[in-house]
Amino acid sequence: MDRKLLLIILDGVPYGNWRRYFGCLEGWVASGEARVWKMRASLPSMSGPCYASIHTGVPPQVHGVLSNGHIHRVDMPDIFSETRKAGGVTGAVTHSWWSEFFNRAPFDYVRDIEYDEPESTSINHGRFHTMTGYDHKNQATPSDVDLFATLTSLCARFSLDYGILHTCTLDSMGHRFGHDCTEMDHACALLDAMLAKFLPAWRQMGYEVIVTADHGQSLRGHHGGTGEDQQDFALYYFGQAEGPSKDALLDQRQLAPTVLSRLGAAVPETMKHESFLT
Ligand SMILES: [Zn+2]
Repeated sequence: MDRKLLLIILDGVPYGNWRRYFGCLEGWVASGEARVWKMRASLPSMSGPCYASIHTGVPPQVHGVLSNGHIHRVDMPDIFSETRKAGGVTGAVTHSWWSEFFNRAPFDYVRDIEYDEPESTSINHGRFHTMTGYDHKNQATPSDVDLFATLTSLCARFSLDYGILHTCTLDSMGHRFGHDCTEMDHACALLDAMLAKFLPAWRQMGYEVIVTADHGQSLRGHHGGTGEDQQDFALYYFGQAEGPSKDALLDQRQLAPTVLSRLGAAVPETMKHESFLT
């Protein structure tokens, strides 16, 4: 592998919230350590379809995850499979759907809650949570500090070449409270601060880091449809590559070929979009 990279997905954070409330990330943009662009989600701008598009680089109409009711193993090349083919070690600290899409489904609570499988053709080191029982009043989300610490531990113990972390905290907060409220102000600031506690260590360990979302949310806390509020989010990049001009609008389907290019893995035929980093 040419380089190591961590992809951090904060679920359901609209563009404006990133730019207004994530003061630590914005501070690194101001100091020149990070760059930020706007990215647009695939349609439907729903979590499951977007996770599959993030990792396969194709739209839901091609990978087949057309709603959150279509959770199955995705039969297409993705970042995990192509990183493994190139000899890289992969890890995931995410919602269990990522394991189902890219490794095996259905999710078995005991077998799949954590696994270390050095010979796997997809995820070598997985640590998952299911949010079972999630509803409007009970988020059933882990603390983000616990997730960030788990990813850091996997990087140190298993020398991951590619690691993904995904957390639903802010998506759940948005569904619960909407966005024009003190609860969301605080939740964004808290997550920004938690992330800032770990991000310098990842850079010191030699990782490039991308921090982004899977989709946005409307002021009422909805997503799935069209429009800048539901589809658009920020993407922060920490690394040495060159990117497009700061007003470029990136496409979510560019993310998978971009990550593979940075790692030094071959981009499969199925990924038709160009890497946005060179
Ligand atoms: Zn989502």
